Amino acid sequence: MTPKLHPARLCKNVLHYVFGPGSVSRLEEFLAPRRGCVLFCIDSYFRGKALLRRLPIRRGDKVHFVDAGSEPTTVGINASLRGLRRKRGEAARAVVGVGGGSTLDTAKALSNLLTNGGRAEDYQGWDLVRRPGLFKIGVPTLSGTGAESSRTCVMIHPTSGLKLGMNSDHTVFDRLILDPDLTRTVPRRQFFYTGLDTYVHCIESLAGCYRNAVGDAFSRQALDLCREVFLDGDMKAYANREKLMIASYLGGCAIASSYVGVVHPFSAGLSVVLGVRHGLANCIVMTAMGEFYPKETAEFRRMAVRQRIHIPRGLCRGLDEARHRRLYEATVIHEKPLANALGPDFRKVLTQQKVREVFLRM
Ligand code: NAD
Ligand code: ZN
Repeated sequence: MTPKLHPARLCKNVLHYVFGPGSVSRLEEFLAPRRGCVLFCIDSYFRGKALLRRLPIRRGDKVHFVDAGSEPTTVGINASLRGLRRKRGEAARAVVGVGGGSTLDTAKALSNLLTNGGRAEDYQGWDLVRRPGLFKIGVPTLSGTGAESSRTCVMIHPTSGLKLGMNSDHTVFDRLILDPDLTRTVPRRQFFYTGLDTYVHCIESLAGCYRNAVGDAFSRQALDLCREVFLDGDMKAYANREKLMIASYLGGCAIASSYVGVVHPFSAGLSVVLGVRHGLANCIVMTAMGEFYPKETAEFRRMAVRQRIHIPRGLCRGLDEARHRRLYEATVIHEKPLANALGPDFRKVLTQQKVREVFLRM
């Protein structure tokens, strides 16, 4: 039976973007109307790399290298903000994020905080950002999270364990530069783990109950592209890197008008309690999702085999009671996506015992 679709709410997607090889060279053109001090948030992988010399960084601009070795936390974002303020970061008139999801999210969060004040955790939730952030441009160098087009910037709150972003129209980038040349250097495993994030977002959206026709269309197209990429012989061939960059963009647009489902809450549990990175955590969870997403779980396995990507197993075996309790809490705290997937009584399905079984199956 086809579920009833909801009307799409008022949705904001990125207003302007360019796509194509070499398009990163157009960054200065986009900055020109707002030239003054620019804050560049750059994935620290690019320190000393050729890309840095291609960015229009001028005297007086601020460069903030983001260590994507761990995912953004509210504590880390607040510390970056304090550091920027000491270096007169408030003078910035625009923010540019160059990197994967962690870096793009850091750029979005700092842009909001520089105009709204307060602390990162004040805005974790839905529509809490009052004023537009600084004008911001996203330049993704890794495809999959959809952070380039979504209306959130995900942060972990270390004490509450909440993994939640600033879900707001003000979090959406003003311009995007989608240059497939920039993903050439991504290690294969990372390329697969992060790329699969799009696949997971879209299967979760399409299986949920908060759906609308526009979000569904974005998701279906993104899924088709993911299949072409990950069931192909060489996922990293240029044509596939182009396809994945578009899929990621479309996946982020889809999420703007829908929710994720069962995979992301479990994945957040692995990230918060065991420190597993987002893309890898999703892949680990997908190995145990047969009862929730049977066809997609089988397809995911075929993709991993086709690309010869090993997904670690047995991560949660041998954990003590306290850790299992924390895993359960860090999972069921994600009420919106779980209600989207399983209905408002999701706790009747995801009992403590059930959650433990699923983690042990991974
Ligand atoms: P990431 O940004 O954490 O980067 C992963 C690794 O890839 C890092 O070591 C980084 O240095 C490296 N890397 C990035 N680009 C590279 C390149 N071109 N060449 C070589 N190495 C490169 O990874 P991610 O998976 O893109 O982002 C994960 C984060 O995104 C998580 O914090 C997750 O919660 C968040 N996320 C956000 C959204 C959103 O809508 N805002 C959606 C999903 C996930
Ligand atoms: Zn995700």
